[in-house]
Amino acid sequence: MRICRFNDNRLGLVRGDLVVDVTPALDLLPSYRWPLPYGDPLIAHLDKVGRRAQEIASSRPALPVAAVTLLSPVANASKIIAAPVNYLKHADEARADKAINFGADIKTIDHYGLFLKSNTSVIGAGERVKLPKIDRRMDHEVEVAAVIGRECYRVARGQALDMVCGYTIALDMSVRGPEDRSWRKSYDTFSVLGPWLVTQDEVGDSGELDLSLSVNDELRQSSNTRALIFDIPKLVVYASQAYRLYPGDVIMTGTPEGVGPVAPGDVMTCTVENIGSMRVTVE
Ligand code: MN
Repeated sequence: MRICRFNDNRLGLVRGDLVVDVTPALDLLPSYRWPLPYGDPLIAHLDKVGRRAQEIASSRPALPVAAVTLLSPVANASKIIAAPVNYLKHADEARADKAINFGADIKTIDHYGLFLKSNTSVIGAGERVKLPKIDRRMDHEVEVAAVIGRECYRVARGQALDMVCGYTIALDMSVRGPEDRSWRKSYDTFSVLGPWLVTQDEVGDSGELDLSLSVNDELRQSSNTRALIFDIPKLVVYASQAYRLYPGDVIMTGTPEGVGPVAPGDVMTCTVENIGSMRVTVE
């Protein structure tokens, strides 16, 4: 199942080049009183809502994907967890380039642990990355993002993928500089998720996915999740040692080599095998 959020918070099922508007399936979501539970209500009830969406789809209107504005499929993540330096060739390029490392000795994820991005930095594929007006290099980082489907804590490796409901493409936009990652990567619009959520059954083996990014049709990044230093099950185990994970929590798994700067007017085309493509404009 490919599920999206579009236009004015409509719920969509993506079928080929069409988005079927299945918004009435959201009526199954419970109403809440304060305090709200952590996590994303849609993701927490995705089995039930997804079943209803498929039942009603044949009697619902459909629109071309190209005619809708795609928002992030996860609306209310309690955490955006991200993996620093999780591809060896990206570690190599960061060590070689002062404009990336700012004099820091670049190590890998087993040294740094994970970091958090602001959950209000999230936008969808149909929105625009807005660069802050500061005199710094600002880079694209294409990544595969795993979306947590169930509340869990201290997960064993054998159960790790059972906690993942699906995947999206992620852009971990980054200001280069000496500050902490959470500061440099949490500017509004710096976490792009999309174009939709693809459930795990449709993605297949997330340890064997090609991913790529082009800027204005020039290929910049191209790799495969086989090259991850910490694979996706290990990232779930690692994250859940520290944090209780909630439905809709996002794990951005790290970017491969080829990161580089973007400028206003650029269009980034991100593609992940078995998920899809998204074109995101920089402003
Ligand atoms: Mn990253």
